[in-house]
Amino acid sequence: MKRFFTSELDVDPDQIVLCSNCSTCRWTCTSYEEFQSEAFFAGGRLRLLRSYVEKNLPVDESFVRAVYACSTCEQCVERCPIKVPYVRIIEDVRKKLVQLGKGPYGKLHVMGDLALKRNNVFGEDPKERGAWVKPDTRISDDSEWGYFVGCTASYKRPEIADATLRMLNYFGIEPQILGADEYCCCSPLIRTGQVTRPVYEESEDGEKDYIGTLEAEKFILHNVEQMKTRGIEHVIFSCSGCYRTTTLDWPRFYRERHGILPFSTQHLTQFLALKLKKGELEWKGSYPETVTYHDPCHLGRHVGVFEAPREILKSIPGLEFVEMERNRQNSVCCGAGGGFKAGFGENAVNVAARRLNQALETGATTIVSSCVFCKLNFLDAVKKRGVKIKVLNIEDLFISLMGLG
Ligand code: SF4
Ligand code: SF4
Repeated sequence: MKRFFTSELDVDPDQIVLCSNCSTCRWTCTSYEEFQSEAFFAGGRLRLLRSYVEKNLPVDESFVRAVYACSTCEQCVERCPIKVPYVRIIEDVRKKLVQLGKGPYGKLHVMGDLALKRNNVFGEDPKERGAWVKPDTRISDDSEWGYFVGCTASYKRPEIADATLRMLNYFGIEPQILGADEYCCCSPLIRTGQVTRPVYEESEDGEKDYIGTLEAEKFILHNVEQMKTRGIEHVIFSCSGCYRTTTLDWPRFYRERHGILPFSTQHLTQFLALKLKKGELEWKGSYPETVTYHDPCHLGRHVGVFEAPREILKSIPGLEFVEMERNRQNSVCCGAGGGFKAGFGENAVNVAARRLNQALETGATTIVSSCVFCKLNFLDAVKKRGVKIKVLNIEDLFISLMGLG
């Protein structure tokens, strides 16, 4: 029987009684490791939520901070003996906080404001979204292959977009890119609860003017329509966040009214691993270093892609592959996901530095990942915390070893 609460949080009562308070999830949580707070791990956060709901406490700043100080990495769900769907619950609570006008935390709303105005979370010029394409690479307007670039690679790490396009060109694929018609995939918006909310702008006289309503679903439908109209059947991703969102979240939004997505999705590591399997990838160079691999949460735990990147790395001549103690399902978050880096910047860099130190303990001189955000956060840790290790993505290695970069 459902219990009745009158809390403004209006969460499903069934959700908050699931956790048995065993605290197993505490010891593997990057958020707990960083903040050392009883409310900053899955079990603690669920306890906090339960007490707010049962006592009908008004939502305050400390509650909002606790709810957002989590990278939604899902390590806790992996460890939980009764598989409490914590990440689903916390994303739902974030959505409720946004609806109440009490979330998202801190400056995270800026991403949503900018997305509404410019279709990307950085507020960059939409017309410049495809400006990273260089004259010696090839795209087309009728290929059945599409490359979904994402906001971060388009504007902040164009070398990732360039390397991915060169990789596709190498295999004879001249993909379509959507350019100005590519809108944010909505990963940062969905993860931070900004699925739908009004956006205001402060006018000169200090008044708040309503400028529109941010709706993640509209972004998703726009992107799908673009792919459909252009006849794109297979979409490649270099960003693990975009890949996860398109593979798991877009169908949720799309299915109800429109059916199944009219294209398949593939992360670039899956694409490359397939080429390797078919004997179509012969390395031209070698990488005589000790290398370890960091599983991006969105690619690994969330979607289950663990082996493809390892198969690629192990096939590289001269490369000695070593595993970190925590790998695959038990991998540690880099600290960038779920809005954690945007909301808790310095803490995110601390988390990344700890992960890089785990890589160094294996004797590795290079850590390889396959996510735009992991690379960004690791490079910040190298710069700001002085960790001495090379940080690369799979596509960086590919173009360097194949003489394409
Ligand atoms: S999702 Fe990750 S950061 Fe959040 S509570 Fe679980 S283990 Fe901790
Ligand atoms: S979420 Fe799972 S692992 Fe964590 S305290 Fe609750 S029951 Fe235990």
